[in-house]
Amino acid sequence: MPEIETTAIVLRRSDYRDWDRMLTLFSPEHGKIDAMARGIRRPTARMRAAGEPFATGLASLTVSGDRASLSGFDLTEGFYPLRENYDRLTQAAYVLNACAKVVQPLTPDPGLFALLQRILGRLAYTDQSGEELLARFLFIMMQGEGIVPSIRICARCGRDIPDETPAAELRVSIPEGGVCCVNCAPYGRKVRDQTLNWLRSAERAGLDDALPEFVPGAWEMLKVFFEGYSGGVRMRRRGGTYTVRP
Ligand SMILES: [Zn+2]
Repeated sequence: MPEIETTAIVLRRSDYRDWDRMLTLFSPEHGKIDAMARGIRRPTARMRAAGEPFATGLASLTVSGDRASLSGFDLTEGFYPLRENYDRLTQAAYVLNACAKVVQPLTPDPGLFALLQRILGRLAYTDQSGEELLARFLFIMMQGEGIVPSIRICARCGRDIPDETPAAELRVSIPEGGVCCVNCAPYGRKVRDQTLNWLRSAERAGLDDALPEFVPGAWEMLKVFFEGYSGGVRMRRRGGTYTVRP
């Protein structure tokens, strides 16, 4: 049975039998790994800290076919301050769940892993706006994964949408996959100029780049798109890469 050692974060956990726990891990080199952690809920278990969401460290795994069991976990970061603030914890849980929907088994995704660590660090250790962090996270992640909504060309007819185009001439359509001319998607949602301007600025920005004042509508729009993509059976991918330094 091959043994692997990899950096990993716990995305999910579910209790199993009396003392065991099934963990969903995300490794930058191996993608998603479901691993049984035997005895981890015993009060004396050495690996106890590895049994909680957000736990990040060096995992030792014994792999057999598509099953893995956790044989060791050297915790390096637990993001503990998240547990002291309900809003931060809720936002961080959203980020973990979004990663759990995107990460695939046996598929390396170091760009997403780095982004996840940096977002959790900011949620845990800074007072940056949580909604803005979530919006930036979703935007960078959707670009990296190739599921970003189109904002510079009409998602239906492909016509360019220059920056100066007033929002009144545009609509947002989830099924079309982005912003459309009003004639192409008259049934779409209206969008505000400030929301579009923030999205245009954020599109090529890294996590630390300055942006115009945050508009909550941007987070709501990105969230609806992400949930549209990830809630459906198919996840449309357009060969994305993490071109923006996460
Ligand atoms: Zn159009």
